[in-house]
Amino acid sequence: MTKSATLSFNHSKENKWTQNVVALWEGSDPVLKNEMVAIGAHYDHVGTNPNAPGDDKIWNGADDDGSGTVAVLAIAEALARSKTRPKRSILLVWHAGEEKGLWGANYFNKFPTVDIKNVVAQLNIDMIGRSLDPNNVIKCGQGIRRCNENLTKANEIYVIGSEMMSSTLGAVTKGTNNAYLKLDYNYKYDDPNDTERFFFRSDHFHYAVNGIPIAFWFDGVHEDYHQASDTADKIDYQKMEKVTRTIFLTMWKLSEMPTRPAVDKQLPPELTRR
Ligand SMILES: [Zn+2]
Repeated sequence: MTKSATLSFNHSKENKWTQNVVALWEGSDPVLKNEMVAIGAHYDHVGTNPNAPGDDKIWNGADDDGSGTVAVLAIAEALARSKTRPKRSILLVWHAGEEKGLWGANYFNKFPTVDIKNVVAQLNIDMIGRSLDPNNVIKCGQGIRRCNENLTKANEIYVIGSEMMSSTLGAVTKGTNNAYLKLDYNYKYDDPNDTERFFFRSDHFHYAVNGIPIAFWFDGVHEDYHQASDTADKIDYQKMEKVTRTIFLTMWKLSEMPTRPAVDKQLPPELTRR
């Protein structure tokens, strides 16, 4: 027996516009200034949630990625106030649409406003403002999403991808930290088989697949991640400052090196597709 059914679909399409914010600080060396060290963060977050508990329905995104956005601004300010210029130029990009699927970074790598081949490394800052309170450890597992046991401690930060493509970038990243503020660099997620897949989950991904060595600083998931409660009062500003200073120093070191960090390792093929 044949049965028939009628289905009807409504379909509408809307175009929305957003933009990356891009700035270039020119280097001092007549030749090396044609190359750039890129610093980035994302300035979007996830909007509002009418069902969020309490009066505040806005997802504030203070850590994700207000912390990175402010860090890049602070780096820009430090460059502008410095009496000397780095040899290479510094490319600062505040990306749009990260939370929608890394839109801004994808677009910038497809339609760059600079010669992208001359970007020698990209340093991505996405969530550097939170620290684990040892008296408030919420264990993950058994479907508990709002846990914080993998949040880094006050002097600790996850570093992801720095050794994946370039031994030199890995060594500079590690060496600069050891020479100055000595944060505890945690490489737990710096693993192609990371089940959390953090390598795929922020803007640096599109630079990496474009052949640019990257390093990504990240404090770890916490109970306010993608909640209305990711608010500024919970930020550990001392930690944020230390991480930002360390990234600034890493950037400066990369800008002064006689030769750019060589890409001497193939990105593992499992890391080239999202
Ligand atoms: Zn983020």
